[in-house]
Amino acid sequence: MAAEASAGERKQRPIAPMLRLPTAPGEKPYLVGYRCQACGATYIGEGRIGCSKCTAIGPLQEVRLSDRGSLYVYSIVHQSVPGVPVPYIAAIVDLPEGVSVRCNLVDIDPDPAKLKFGMPVEMVTRKVRDRKEKNAEGVEETVDIIAFFFRPSQNSES
Ligand SMILES: [Zn+2]
Repeated sequence: MAAEASAGERKQRPIAPMLRLPTAPGEKPYLVGYRCQACGATYIGEGRIGCSKCTAIGPLQEVRLSDRGSLYVYSIVHQSVPGVPVPYIAAIVDLPEGVSVRCNLVDIDPDPAKLKFGMPVEMVTRKVRDRKEKNAEGVEETVDIIAFFFRPSQNSES
């Protein structure tokens, strides 16, 4: 049946432009940063016209960031807006490219006894909600909104 063929083939949208989703089977999602071609300093976020480290004026080169890093700092959040389950772990993760990423830590209890500064973490993506939008033919369809998180590394490589 035709309707079944498209089930599970929903389009996905990243929740933020720095998250890139797979466009072909076998690809993994990743984050992008922007690297100064003069000194190599790397930044998060589009739109930067120059490097604040060496003052070279762009263009900065888009680079794929590592999906593994280390937990720099975290805070256990006990109060949030309605609809956001608490407690959750707000964190800053350091990546090897020298950038720090704000994110939520998942797959671990929000318990300071289990969280260690510097612990290895890896990126995961999850659907956080869906949204109706019109496709190119003007037909409304449901797309999945995908967000990134970090979780404790699942193997001991790093
Ligand atoms: Zn620079």
